[in-house]
Amino acid sequence: MSAYLITSVSVVGGPPTDLLIRDGLVAEVGPGLSAPDATVVDGTGLVALPGLVDLHTHLREPGREDAETVESGSRAAAMGGYTAVCAMANTSPVADTAGVVEQVWRLGREAGLVDVQPIGAVTVGLAGERLAELGAMADSAARVRIFSDDGHCVADPKLMRRALEYVKAFDGIIAQHAEEPRLTEGAQMHEGEVSTRLGLIGWPAVAEEAIIARDVLLTEHVGSRLHVCHVSTAGSVEVLRQAKARGVRVTAEVTPHHLLLTDERAETYDPVFKVNPPLRTAADIAALRAALADGVIDVIATDHAPHAVEDKECEWAYARPGMLGLETALSIALDVLGPEWDLIAERMSRTPARIAGLTGHGVDPAPGVPANLTVVDPAARRTIEPAELASRSRNTPYARMTLPGRIVATFLRGEPTVLDGKAVK
Ligand SMILES: [Zn+2]
Repeated sequence: MSAYLITSVSVVGGPPTDLLIRDGLVAEVGPGLSAPDATVVDGTGLVALPGLVDLHTHLREPGREDAETVESGSRAAAMGGYTAVCAMANTSPVADTAGVVEQVWRLGREAGLVDVQPIGAVTVGLAGERLAELGAMADSAARVRIFSDDGHCVADPKLMRRALEYVKAFDGIIAQHAEEPRLTEGAQMHEGEVSTRLGLIGWPAVAEEAIIARDVLLTEHVGSRLHVCHVSTAGSVEVLRQAKARGVRVTAEVTPHHLLLTDERAETYDPVFKVNPPLRTAADIAALRAALADGVIDVIATDHAPHAVEDKECEWAYARPGMLGLETALSIALDVLGPEWDLIAERMSRTPARIAGLTGHGVDPAPGVPANLTVVDPAARRTIEPAELASRSRNTPYARMTLPGRIVATFLRGEPTVLDGKAVK
């Protein structure tokens, strides 16, 4: 195994220090370290963070390898500073059995660029009719702890209750895509002034808020754990705030795009801005940012959703919802939060690692901890060129935008996956 000495680097915003990585661990942290056998990385002006952890990634394999593979998505993740991602279950076949989650887990190990933790489906085929083999997935080699029908809502309240009861036995989590389907039939964008002006069918905020309200009550009743995917409205924040004040075991995520982009992007009719839940209003963005700062929203998760060209470069009505996120998330966080390194580490690494139960991730660099970390240049600015992304897809909403921050290096168990801003393998 190799050794790396990162010199004069700020650890999570602290004063410059040296950081020695050896045998997969952070060996030493302190000024004036020397290690003649180590590869030196000049960390002057750079910030070291615990490796980022994404609770919500679509890797598309098996089934849509033209859009992304476990390997290409893992590389995109590493380039974005991630050391672990949770892979959503809406693949083809659906990850609703021990066999499929083990396949994804094994592909992640073979790629070896980030730890890929599969999420299992809640219902068979994401059809919302009967529970999938939750216990078998939990007992599999992939050791699934989070279950989600993401892309679809577990709309049936009886089924949702049973899922919450089932996973309680092993302290599992149901991650809900909160969307009351009867309220969003035919929806193309956020329901509001802009949808009225454009004459597009709207996706009302209450379709999200009603499901979250129902689910926090069910979770409280059962005494289980709920995670709410991609919270997008101010009203959802208030429902979550009240539930947390009562002690309900609920956590919530927000995506980078819901922190930055508004529904006015739909005026371009560029399907790259079509996403589910849809982009909301400036008032929603303000509420989401405040909730992220005060902890009502626990984590930033990307909802990285690669799509092949034919599914995205078509008329708005036919385009699939979703956008890339892994390679730009930290830049958006920096843009939105500023250089609040402790908050960024909390929302993008420590808390998501704790929710997913990923030991060895989400731990600040200190002697003896696994060397899962990322090194950021906060002063760098970069213009996003879709063709340069490591993802196999090109549907970034930030094309040709200039964003702050650049990932200089990412280490997974002491081995670089990114060095000098480039993928190592
Ligand atoms: Zn979703």
